Amino acid sequence: MRRSLQAILTTLIALITVLLTAPSRGVAFQERDGVPILVYHRFGASVTDAMTVTTGVFEQQLAWLRAHGYQIISLHALLESWRDPANVLPSRPVVITADDGHKSVYTEMLPLIRRYHFPVTLFIYPSAISNASYALTWDQLAEMVRTGLVDVQSHTYWHPNFHHERARLSPAAYRAFVMWQLTRSKEVISQHLGINVEMLAWPFGIHDSELEQWAAAAGYSAAFTLERRAASRNDNPLALPRFLITDRDRGARFATIIEGSEHREK
Ligand SMILES: [Zn+2]
Repeated sequence: MRRSLQAILTTLIALITVLLTAPSRGVAFQERDGVPILVYHRFGASVTDAMTVTTGVFEQQLAWLRAHGYQIISLHALLESWRDPANVLPSRPVVITADDGHKSVYTEMLPLIRRYHFPVTLFIYPSAISNASYALTWDQLAEMVRTGLVDVQSHTYWHPNFHHERARLSPAAYRAFVMWQLTRSKEVISQHLGINVEMLAWPFGIHDSELEQWAAAAGYSAAFTLERRAASRNDNPLALPRFLITDRDRGARFATIIEGSEHREK
């Protein structure tokens, strides 16, 4: 009798242990809502400025994401899943974006995302394209779009600092300037690449409720900042947060950015 009671107790303890460990991980993954959206700028063999991620470190980050079961999804897929719950996201989603249209996106980033088959969204300011020496060309952008992995969206027309412009212009002129930056960028990207532009990355991450209103009036349905946290469906769609990734985000630092986004919905 004593012996069988002990056996039952042992079984119960084993069962409780199983219940407390394995399923809790599964539940956490299912319930977590925050999705890390990463933003890169430039790539290269060495760090020439704060915005450069060396190509080797970028590749290590991609390899780490794959090895840890993260699924890189497009920004469109993320927004669609929020708009329509019928679009279920894969587990452990992560989004990759790159701002500014630097030429190293073509020379350094493209070969790697092709190898890993990871989608990315580029936020470009068209005044620089096929114009500034550091920038991509329209041909390079078109080639990237043809891979099916690259989407191109707006970073305004010439990347102004809206704080400076508001200080320098009359209210009416400021509004006209912002609306022109927002609409001209959409038009030019659409003309060159045949893309429907509805996403915006705020230059320098600068945004406020007035700017968000104007972005909506200009036809943007989502806009992105540089606020360092995971994005969720409960966020303001015109101020969605992203993690700015630098070359220092290696190993444990990178893991913390990604894994820190995994939390239970409260
Ligand atoms: Zn920028």
